[in-house]
Amino acid sequence: MLDYVKLTQVGNMPRLANLSRLSSGAMKEIDQATRRNLELFKTLSGDRKGSLLGVIDKTITCGGARLLASRISAPLTDVKAINLRLDMVQFYHQYDICCDDLRQKLREIPDMERALSRITLGRCGPRDLAAIAGGLSSNDNLRAIHNKAENINIPNDVCVALEDLGLHDILVERLTKALEIELPVQSRDGGYICAGYSAKLDELRLLSSESKRLILALESNYKKQSGVDSLKIKYNNILGYFIEVTARHAGKMEEPFIHRQSMMNATRYSTIELNELSRDITEAKDKSVALECELFDELIQFICQDAGDIAKAAASIGRLDWASAMGFMARENNYVRPDIDNSREFNIEAGRHPVVENALKNNQDGIFIANDCNLGQKQHLWLVTGPNMAGKSTFLRQNALIAIMAQSGCFVPANAVHIGVIDRLFSRVGPAADLARGRSTFMVEMVETAVILNQATDKSLVILDEIGRGTATFDGLSIAWACVEHLHQICKSRALFATHYHELHSLDKKLECLSPHAMKVKDWQGDVIFLHEVVAGCADRSYGFHVARLAGLPQSVVARAEQVLINLQQGQKKGQYSDAIAELANDLPLFKTIDQKYNMANDGRGGGKQEIVEVINSEIDIAIDKINPDDMSPREALEILYKLKQLRD
Ligand code: ATP
Repeated sequence: MLDYVKLTQVGNMPRLANLSRLSSGAMKEIDQATRRNLELFKTLSGDRKGSLLGVIDKTITCGGARLLASRISAPLTDVKAINLRLDMVQFYHQYDICCDDLRQKLREIPDMERALSRITLGRCGPRDLAAIAGGLSSNDNLRAIHNKAENINIPNDVCVALEDLGLHDILVERLTKALEIELPVQSRDGGYICAGYSAKLDELRLLSSESKRLILALESNYKKQSGVDSLKIKYNNILGYFIEVTARHAGKMEEPFIHRQSMMNATRYSTIELNELSRDITEAKDKSVALECELFDELIQFICQDAGDIAKAAASIGRLDWASAMGFMARENNYVRPDIDNSREFNIEAGRHPVVENALKNNQDGIFIANDCNLGQKQHLWLVTGPNMAGKSTFLRQNALIAIMAQSGCFVPANAVHIGVIDRLFSRVGPAADLARGRSTFMVEMVETAVILNQATDKSLVILDEIGRGTATFDGLSIAWACVEHLHQICKSRALFATHYHELHSLDKKLECLSPHAMKVKDWQGDVIFLHEVVAGCADRSYGFHVARLAGLPQSVVARAEQVLINLQQGQKKGQYSDAIAELANDLPLFKTIDQKYNMANDGRGGGKQEIVEVINSEIDIAIDKINPDDMSPREALEILYKLKQLRD
């Protein structure tokens, strides 16, 4: 890696932080699929908005934001280290005045880390130097904010961060004295070193501005000498300084004027005197720019001598920003400090999904329903069933996100949380094909499931959402069944397994640590209301038709699907499942209707075949369409009810 850096930086080695050893298992491992599925940094469609980071990133400085992303990316497994981070967050959570003051001050701090990288790489401009000065000059203010916390116990890591800010008065003073307030991006054109910083530079600048005054005097002289009032001395990069008059005055320009260039409307001249002056001005300017560049290099050297301490200060600003941002967020959103230890607990009281909760709040779309999740020793595998759209995936993901946030040292969206450290987090949620690598949706599902079942341990957390749905019903059910058994008996991981295969509930008698849970719904006047509440027990059905109707499937298709389901269920009850399917295929009312209408069309009484196919409706729908409730007597209404019932049967 060092060779690569040397090669790409053409031998100019950037400043590198000291190497530190990371022991294996120091970080909670989260594989690529899980990171993607849980939408930690961006949503599946690639947006930051709607991801976990998009919601919890309340940091102010760029360094703080980078630190948050890296901590979410690699949560810790060491309980002590996690608690040190949590102590910092708790301090800012409790001591809100300090938190708010700090956040206010942090707004003025530039990105010192990036500026320092560019400076040590020799790719910086004057603004990078100003960023270092600006960042370091706020150190005293940051410390002073914390001095106000007299009776409050400041956690050790906050003290360390404040100490790491260091003392950089000499550097700050020198940079402030040297640099102008308005700075150019590049150093090569000069104009960024303050007057008074270098006597030599001031001298050269004076010469250059003096020469300009001389040019103006010369111009007025030449005007008098030539009698051309509109004469001007101008400058361009090719000729340098030259005299210009309009073409009609060209005849008046005699000695000492030397002709240089004729154009359509103007003629240009020079004089020996002007040439000499021009040379002096250019030399003075070049010299002053060269001197500025020299001074700039000197400042860079001065900063580089201190690079280690500056990097330390920049990193501690990132830590303070991270901790105050997490404290602020916890206060704003009602998050709590998780209790982390080395047990095998996973007990979340009234947990919430940070992203869904935030979206509901922003859209004023109702409140988020909090749910408990206890994957303790006696029930480490929860089987979650329930209707579509009831909130199973949300529940699964929220627990995974809480586990990530907790171990990265953040407060979490819940009323109380007790988690025994998780070594690896696995999740298999949502369908995704990997066509570029020649994998179908189901293949990806199986590959991800295989990774989980082969690698999950009794310290892992596993989130599985609808395994086996991408293949034939019985194949899928069997795979899901075997996966549950494997997770329970072999992996022994804490796991949440959401499924629509209600048949899996028969396993809860066989597997002692399997705990069935369901999403609660309410049937109300023929409508389904999703309560988004997780309760112990099994769901009786999936209410797929309800969701299909909500999604806008044609009425006739939903009605027909309901009829097919009834026939299949009846066939299954009688033990004649295949007969029921054969019967259904022979007796498709949908096609019957088409046939009838098609015949009518051929009789010359209807439109074309295409047109007929488009207006298919179930018989029940047609009957309902004919009804006009306002024109009906009670008796007629009753009759039509009987007729509808008859049609359905
Ligand atoms: P499917 O089985 O069809 O995949 P699901 O049961 O997994 O559905 P989710 O995708 O988790 O359902 O949730 C559907 C929607 O319900 C979410 O987009 C969210 O808006 C809402 N929702 C889920 N959980 C809650 C909750 N606890 N409180 C409020 N709204 C919720």
